[in-house]
Amino acid sequence: MLSFQDARTKVIEACRSLRRVPPVETIELKNAVGRVLAQEIPADREYPPFDRAARDGFAVRSADCQKAGATLRVIGEVAAGADFRRRVGAGECVQIMTGAAVPEGADAVVMVEQTRTEGGDRQTVVIERVADAGMNFTPRGSEARKGDVLLSPSVRIGEAEIAVLAQAGCTHFDVYRKARVAILSTGSELVEIGARPREFQIRNSNGASLAAQVELVGGEGVSLANAPDSENELRRSIVKGLREDILIISGGVSAGKYDLVEPVLRDLEAEILFDVVDIRPGRPAVFAICQGKPVFGLPGNPASTMVTFELFVTPAVDVLGGAEPRALPLLKAKLASAVEQRAALAHFLPARLEWPEGEPTVTTLPWQGSGDIATVARGNCFLVVPQTKLKLAAGEWVDVLPRQGIL
Ligand code: AMP
Ligand code: MG
Repeated sequence: MLSFQDARTKVIEACRSLRRVPPVETIELKNAVGRVLAQEIPADREYPPFDRAARDGFAVRSADCQKAGATLRVIGEVAAGADFRRRVGAGECVQIMTGAAVPEGADAVVMVEQTRTEGGDRQTVVIERVADAGMNFTPRGSEARKGDVLLSPSVRIGEAEIAVLAQAGCTHFDVYRKARVAILSTGSELVEIGARPREFQIRNSNGASLAAQVELVGGEGVSLANAPDSENELRRSIVKGLREDILIISGGVSAGKYDLVEPVLRDLEAEILFDVVDIRPGRPAVFAICQGKPVFGLPGNPASTMVTFELFVTPAVDVLGGAEPRALPLLKAKLASAVEQRAALAHFLPARLEWPEGEPTVTTLPWQGSGDIATVARGNCFLVVPQTKLKLAAGEWVDVLPRQGIL
């Protein structure tokens, strides 16, 4: 008995225990999204670098505005980017714009909406509220002090990290090489996607969907030619795949006469860490370490391949790519209508998560089982039916596994 959570933990532990530090490469900021930082990024200056006005209005001395209705003399204006050097004295203020530096002497910004000018007089302004020191500006250095670590190694770079790097002037920096993931489909029934299949043949969709999944989680896919169901050819392809950081094999892990992946892996002296997980689809999923490389044998039914990739391969791509393994992003939603499963396994059912009236609601889709790609594509997630609770009532809060990049 192995739950998917425990299987995932096994993958993470085994990948970490390989202690592989990926090679480092220097890249440009514009190519950085999805990459994993290999260096610290220190603040090059204080952030913000000056007391930064957060509102359009008037920079005032709070001491002058302890009562509403103070009339102050306007001694100038400071726009964002302007170099304003005059000091604000008693009874004085400066008109200020968002993003400008609060001039010396002032210690608060009053929103323009809370001020008024009388009779077209631009020399004075009435402050209609009490101003507290520190109001409406972000003090210099309050976000980061010069030298503070803004980003650490192993962080995956998304839009916020890009903004931090841009702000700190990092045009080039070091990232880890993406985990290189060999993708090997197996099956004598498979033909290239550009080919016209004969009646009993099918196109190799797993080769394509696995490449997409590898890309979506930040790995570098290396597609190998499909291996027919022959021990010798499979062995040759597996040996080739072991050159990369990770090897994924699709198909050939069930109990059929031509399911040869496990025997070939054993023959190559792989250490099989699991070969059955309590899930459907995907029960016969294999995870092994072979010649120091993590190897996944994913069941070939397309939905099984997709689910087992998401559950088990994703964290391996993280670890071998120098990143922290991401958590499984399970969401909570209300179940639209009752679901019942028989087999005592965790079930992953194609479903749609939507927010009618703002409440997350998940609806399962009728499907023909794990070969039914079209239904998976109509969904945006999988409903997770826990192994310990196979009967879920309508209106219950349930777990949902979003589809990567879709939800
Ligand atoms: P297997 O895991 O090899 O027993 O395959 C299970 C089912 O998935 C069979 O119907 C296969 O034809 C199908 N299948 C296996 N590999 C692929 C693939 N690469 N693309 C599409 N279907 C596949
Ligand atoms: Mg097969």
